[in-house]
Amino acid sequence: MSQTLKITVLPGDGIGPEVMEQAVRVLRVIEELEDVSFSLEYGRIGGTAIDEDGTPLPEDTLEKARRSDAVLLGSVGGPKWDTNPAHLRPETGLLGIRKELGLYANLRPAFMLDCMVPVSALKEEIVKGVDLMVIRELTGGLYFGEKKRYEDENGEVASDEMIYHEYEIERIVRRAFEVARLRSKKLTSVDKANVLESSRLWRKVVERIAPEYPDVELRHQLVDSCAMELIRWPKQFDTVVTENMFGDILSDEASMLTGSIGMLPSASLADGNFGLYEPVHGSAPDIAGMGVANPTATILSVGMMLKYSFGLERASEAIEKAVHEVLNSGVRTRDIAENKEEAVGTQEMADRIIEATRRAYVNA
Ligand code: NAD
Repeated sequence: MSQTLKITVLPGDGIGPEVMEQAVRVLRVIEELEDVSFSLEYGRIGGTAIDEDGTPLPEDTLEKARRSDAVLLGSVGGPKWDTNPAHLRPETGLLGIRKELGLYANLRPAFMLDCMVPVSALKEEIVKGVDLMVIRELTGGLYFGEKKRYEDENGEVASDEMIYHEYEIERIVRRAFEVARLRSKKLTSVDKANVLESSRLWRKVVERIAPEYPDVELRHQLVDSCAMELIRWPKQFDTVVTENMFGDILSDEASMLTGSIGMLPSASLADGNFGLYEPVHGSAPDIAGMGVANPTATILSVGMMLKYSFGLERASEAIEKAVHEVLNSGVRTRDIAENKEEAVGTQEMADRIIEATRRAYVNA
């Protein structure tokens, strides 16, 4: 009997629903090709949830997510909600769902396909062959520490606390060693141990755990040096692990090496197999509703879900292979096209990826 896996689908705002529609079509194709079926439950998050439910993260959405095996998310945000107070901002829904579901490990691959090299802002010899994974701690550090705003005799004061517990560092570092093991067995741990106490604890925990993974080559690097080296010679990196804010910045920097944000997927994992999968890009209000958004990042997020939450490696590889084949054949959405006139729309890009996914199965 075929296995039924429950997925909560949260299309969100802007281009979220458009790219999600195509990602769901890919899931339906995988159902035909594998002995598996997906039961989808839709929910609201972000701006649409603010409008409909009065909160960016309705309890109903959380309940659906908790009873599912994985969550697939589009994107949140838009100018309509930009001036709202913090508790009514779409991004608050994102921070909330990560925390509530214990999604502490954010995996962000950044890879350069040969055919995409001309799109990068950097020189060919620098970016050709880049294939790295930034693993960002997602539920601790500066973004979740105590925030204060008060006045003293010199005027207004604001502070954000950078706080890490040993167990929070330990679980993300273990994940990182395990991911590095599946890749090129090279791990760079990034911190600011020359200045920050939280970084000194980070480094101590990494050192304690490292002997358990003798096959993985470990290197420590300061965050400022890492930021420079990512641009100077990115191919020196394979797997990079770091705390929340450093990871936020470095993963965006790494994604720009590859030229387009419309291509990059991400996974946010909890303990066990549960995870939330979403494209790296935002809700792109400038192109929302035009049918031109690139669905590749969301489709590749489906690929990551199949691999990391469901263990469906073959399906995941077929999707990745299909994306490579379609791009290598010169098909482009507007964001990555050199000749914008020849660009295809959201649906056609997905059609091509779906056809190539089927071919990948036949030829496997
Ligand atoms: P963005 O990623 O939405 O857009 C940046 C640029 O990239 C835009 O020109 C956009 O058209 C383009 N782009 C992004 N995704 C694309 C795709 N799939 N296909 C083609 N082009 C694409 O970032 P932004 O403009 O800084 O933010 C817009 C809104 O999205 C804001 O409200 C922001 O807070 C929110 N945001 C949400 C997330 C998320 O949901 N995870 C992430 C980043 C930003």
